[in-house]
Amino acid sequence: MPLYEFRCRTCDETFELRRPMSEASAPATCPHGHDNAVRLLSAFASVGAVSAPASAPAARPAGGCGAGCGCAH
Ligand SMILES: [Zn+2]
Repeated sequence: MPLYEFRCRTCDETFELRRPMSEASAPATCPHGHDNAVRLLSAFASVGAVSAPASAPAARPAGGCGAGCGCAH
């Protein structure tokens, strides 16, 4: 579940909330109980959205026998 950053417009407190992406823009309550915190744009919001492979799969070594090879080395 992505982590979102919020800031309370009443006391200026910033805090983080973990919530489903579908509720990302829903109103949040700050730790002091004020009910008008707004979500900040944060790099955390993209966590879990895209996962690219860190590196390409290694190429098979050239010249080796395959699984179906009958030689006895
Ligand atoms: Zn507050």
